[in-house]
This record gives sequence, C-alpha cells and structure tokens, in this order.
Amino acid sequence: MPKERTVETVIDHIDRNRDRYVRELIELVKIPSISSSSKHRLDVRRCAEYLQHELERIGVRKTRLFETDGHPVVYAEWTENAGAPTVLIYGHYDVQPVDPLDQWVTPPFEPDVRNGRLYGRGSVDDKGQVFAHLKAVEAWLQQTGTLPLNLKFLFEGEEEIGSANLDGFLRDNAALVRSDCVVVSDTPMLARGLPSICYGLRGLAYLQVDVRACASDLHSGSFGGVIGNPLHALVHILDQLKDQSGRIRVPGFYDKVLPLESDERAALAALPFVEQQVLTDTGAQALLGEEGYTTLERLWARPTLDLNGIWGGFIEEGAKTVIPATAHAKLSMRLVPEQDPAVISTAAASYLRSLAPAWATVDVQVLHGGQSWYDPHTDPTFDLAAAALCKGFGVERIAYIREGGSIPFVRTIADATHRPCLLIGFGLPDECAHAPNEWLDLDNYHKGIRSSAYLYDELSQLPTLG
Ligand SMILES: [Zn+2]
Repeated sequence: MPKERTVETVIDHIDRNRDRYVRELIELVKIPSISSSSKHRLDVRRCAEYLQHELERIGVRKTRLFETDGHPVVYAEWTENAGAPTVLIYGHYDVQPVDPLDQWVTPPFEPDVRNGRLYGRGSVDDKGQVFAHLKAVEAWLQQTGTLPLNLKFLFEGEEEIGSANLDGFLRDNAALVRSDCVVVSDTPMLARGLPSICYGLRGLAYLQVDVRACASDLHSGSFGGVIGNPLHALVHILDQLKDQSGRIRVPGFYDKVLPLESDERAALAALPFVEQQVLTDTGAQALLGEEGYTTLERLWARPTLDLNGIWGGFIEEGAKTVIPATAHAKLSMRLVPEQDPAVISTAAASYLRSLAPAWATVDVQVLHGGQSWYDPHTDPTFDLAAAALCKGFGVERIAYIREGGSIPFVRTIADATHRPCLLIGFGLPDECAHAPNEWLDLDNYHKGIRSSAYLYDELSQLPTLG
C-alpha cells in the first residue's frame, strides 16, 4: 500500500472509533491514582497495571513495571522496525488530589460526559493524553500490523509529587530510554484550534516554613502581650518575601535568570493571546505582575513566588482565645533557566530563617524541586511535529509556546539524550487541571489521537543515532 494511503487508513480507523476511545478512557479515569496520598498507594499501582495490560492488549507485548522507592514506572517498547528511528513517549498516570471535594459537580472518579467534555480527575492531566498515544498505536497496529518507527513508552506515577524517583530510574536504565527523539504530551495548547509545541518549562522549588514560639498552645488572656505569637511572626516573615512591586527579595534570587532575547519577545507578542480570556477563565478581577514584562513573559519566562497555604491556631467555628505554639506555611517558587532549584531553596531558607524574631525558631524544609528546561526549537524534528499537528487538527499553523508549570522529567531526559524533546499537549488552558471539575475536550482528545498517528509517520523520517 502506498505510504500516504497507509496513514489515511489509520486515520479513517481512528475517526470511526471515536466513541469507543472515550468509553475506554473513562475506565482509566475511574482509577483514583492520587500519588500524594498513602491511602491511594494501591490504586496508583492498580493504574500502572491497567496501563501495562492495555499496552499488551493493543500489541505492545514487551512491557514491564519497574519498582521504585515510591510508585512504579510503566515501561514498554515496540521495536520491531529494524533500521527505523526510535521515539520515547513519556506521560504520567498519577493524578492530583481532589479537594475541595464539595466543589465537584460530579464525583472526580466517576467520569461524566457533558457538552462534549469528559469530567474527572486526570482526564486531561494526564490520562487522556497518555491514552491518545495508546489509541494511535492501537490504530496503526490494527490497520497495518506494524508501526512506521520504533516506540518506547515510559509512564511514571510520581509526576504530581515531583518525580523524586525518576532521575534514579533514568540513571539505572540509560540504555532502555535511549532514543532519537522524546515526545511528551502533558502541556496545554495555547487556545482551541491552535495546536502548540512547548519549548520551555519553568522549574520549581517548594518549601515548608514552621515557626515555633513556645511548648504548647496558651491562653491569650493569661499570656497575650508577654509571650510571642508565632502566627504574627509568620505573617511578618512572609510579608518580606516580596516588595511592593512584586519583586522577590530573596538575596541572589535573580542572579542567574536568563534575560529574554528581543526576537523571542517579538514571537511571544505575535501569539494570539487574549489577556481578557485569563480574567474570564479564572474569575480574577485584574492581571498583575513584574513591571516591564507582558503577561506571557511573566507566565513563561520570569520567576515567581507564591504562598500555597498558611495554617496554625484556631480555625474551627466560634471563638477560642488561644496563642498557638506553632504556625506554618507552604510556598512555591517557579524558576526559569538558569536558576538552580537547590541553590534557590537554600537561599530562600536562609533568608526566611534570618527574618525570625529572637523569641521564635523558624525551620524550613525543602519539599521538592525541579529544573527548568528550554530548547531554541531550531532542530528539524520540530518541523516534522508541526506538520503532524497541522494534519491531525486540520489547521494551517501551530503555535510555539512556553509553559509556566514544571515537568522535571523533560530536563533530565534532554540532558541524558541530547535529543530534541517534543512537548505536544492536547489540553486547553481552562480545563481545570489540578482544580475541581477537571475536564478534557473530547474533540481535542480525538484530534490528539489523529495527531499522534500522523506524528509517528512524520518522525519515521528522523535520522537514527545508529
Ligand atoms: Zn501532568
């Protein structure tokens, strides 16, 4: 069969099986694979096993679960096309916690289709995107009995908790993940109808701050005014993390930040990005941020610091006159090239401790971190991927974007392979990933499957490492 017809046969098959692909994804989304919760440890494993069986069922027979100190890594490969290039596909099968549960319209693990959307935790981040690849592989194998290239699959169960064990896995299994190109589907498109390739990710440093002032909670009538209150100390400390203009005051914080080049600034300014849409999507009343930068630049290429939670003292109904013994906060910093998370965490921790009043102790724990990543996207591999996306979505052009979030794996694998990483996601920015009522646009899911099928065909032209 001529090459063009072969691909179109696969695409026809994908178009005819659209509804089945949704039904099958629902089964995967039902599994509550919350990696941060020890209560769900067995569910996370069940999800890994489910994917392993699914890979075998569609014809990828060489599969293995790799145990780690945390959740297992699902690895599989189909490498029966001798001489063809090898592409590694990465995704994650773990999901974020679901609280606040009362804000979900339908329960997070009882997936529900409404208005062309699949609601459920993990639907877009990242199970729908992982599954899009599996369905494209299934279509190729069912229709042609083969794949136009060799594929390796690596699905991790700890992406939402910082991928702590993945570096070790990649180090121990360097030969296994050797490939000519890496594909990651875990980033959003810029907008509906505009498939996007992401070429930059921010890194992360995440800290917990614990302030202690006395041995136990005290009566505020008996001790108020003579004993220091750790909640006050905490509020005062946190208030000194940024100045009035939002600039982060941690000493050395900006030292290594790579400045934006003028041609990239021009490219970002030309993207069809509507600031008003951010307000509409979020319900926020105004946009703010570092002076001298556009919203996209602030989101993608500038570092930030955010408080993620503050607690301590009495928060139940009614009044209780208490001076708490401790106060706590969690905070995260999004980092850009070339900020190092370990260096930034250390600098932030010593700054926080230096702000402690004499009557309190401040402890800082580093909870997790991840490196940023950036690729100038000049390698021709990016053009092949862009062609696949145009065909899959039936559009004339794609957008090159960055992403404000972090995927620690990308930097690790890029450093290890020195090969291009294609970050091709099929999510939309307003699909509530990490929030209540997460959803996946089912039209994008379908186009994601089509694009993946085209992508394998396009990437079969890659030169091999040999
Ligand atoms: Zn994700």
